[in-house]
Amino acid sequence: MSEPLVRRMREFGTTVFATMTKLAVETGSINLGQGFPDTDGPARMLERAVEAVRDGFNQYPPGPGVPELRRAVAEHREKWYGLAYDPDGEVLVTVGATEAIAAAVLALCEPGDEVIVFEPYYDSYAAAVALAGAVRRPVTLRVDAGRFTFDPAELAAAVGPRTRAVLVNSPHNPTGTVFNRQELEAIAEVCRERDLVAISDEVYEHLTFDGVEHVPLATLPGMRERTVMISSAGKSFSVTGWKTGWICAPAPLVAAVQAVKQFLTFTAAAPWQLAVAYGLREEMDWVNGLRADLQAKRDRLIAGLETAGFGVLRPAGTYFVQTDIRPLGFDDGLELARRLPELAGVVAIPTQAFYDNVSRGRHFLRFAFCKKDEVIAEAVTRLRHLSSGSTL
Ligand SMILES: *Cc1c(COP(=O)(O)O)cnc(C)c1O
Repeated sequence: MSEPLVRRMREFGTTVFATMTKLAVETGSINLGQGFPDTDGPARMLERAVEAVRDGFNQYPPGPGVPELRRAVAEHREKWYGLAYDPDGEVLVTVGATEAIAAAVLALCEPGDEVIVFEPYYDSYAAAVALAGAVRRPVTLRVDAGRFTFDPAELAAAVGPRTRAVLVNSPHNPTGTVFNRQELEAIAEVCRERDLVAISDEVYEHLTFDGVEHVPLATLPGMRERTVMISSAGKSFSVTGWKTGWICAPAPLVAAVQAVKQFLTFTAAAPWQLAVAYGLREEMDWVNGLRADLQAKRDRLIAGLETAGFGVLRPAGTYFVQTDIRPLGFDDGLELARRLPELAGVVAIPTQAFYDNVSRGRHFLRFAFCKKDEVIAEAVTRLRHLSSGSTL
């Protein structure tokens, strides 16, 4: 049989996460590759999910989502960001942020339309754009003063007559950059002037450090009307397996996304929705605790990586830290990622996997710190072997 997979999906073989996780298992290495927490979400919220199942909350919920969750989402947007969304018509519950992104791109982009993405980009963006038959136009985030940022002129130059949307992700995976107002204003300006839709992935909205503020793109002048704001319970509440996300947007945009979403999954699983509604209303203190914990984990991992000889780029948000491997005498992150199990018994992700311009990401390696303290401590101990010179 000839290759059964449609041509537009062939460039997306196996994700780098699956490959590196397999390598970690085969070599018994500590996996600081894939970004999921190894501890549970708030106990009362987990209990609410169990209760929902026991209480018979097990049939199809309404297509847009359980009303209680849509109301809790609207209250949360108002309370945290001063953004008013109508729970009936401006909020749509999705099967994680992943479905929200795919449904938004499929709903809003015609074949041949162009979508701006900031590289390194989250891997599902490129796949969603390809599924829609659209074309991705990367704008590279480059290191300046210790953080990844973009050149507004490059962003403006990437917009052409076929550009339909900008896919924004802040706090940004995999760089840990949290866009500041100036950067967001540069994006907003392009969107307003060229009449683009912003698809804004904000799944790390609550995971920012050192007092850095997350500013939703929709709060900028003229942006609420053209922004599809995407969130997920997975990262905020450490329940990545629940796959419960949502979008907030003006009614016509929500209706468009729902038109696609209804034929992807119709609706999202019911019990989690009730539990997440509870979480948004009652467990934000827990989320603040998670943020503080993650900041401490970040600092411990960074100290260890610096001792090991990596150049470290301190993230202002997310679960991830980017390292420059050149101070260690390497220049290809893919090669080092493959050898790291043997050299140090640790697995990380070669950042170049998330670029169209692979050479621009060649010397970066991504480590995740959403792991138990003892796991990070052991990884740090092992990574010391790298700088001791014994294995190089
Ligand atoms: C984890 C992640 C997602 C996916 O979220 P789900 O709710 O699990 O689908 C989307 N975007 C980014 C940037 C992520 O890191």
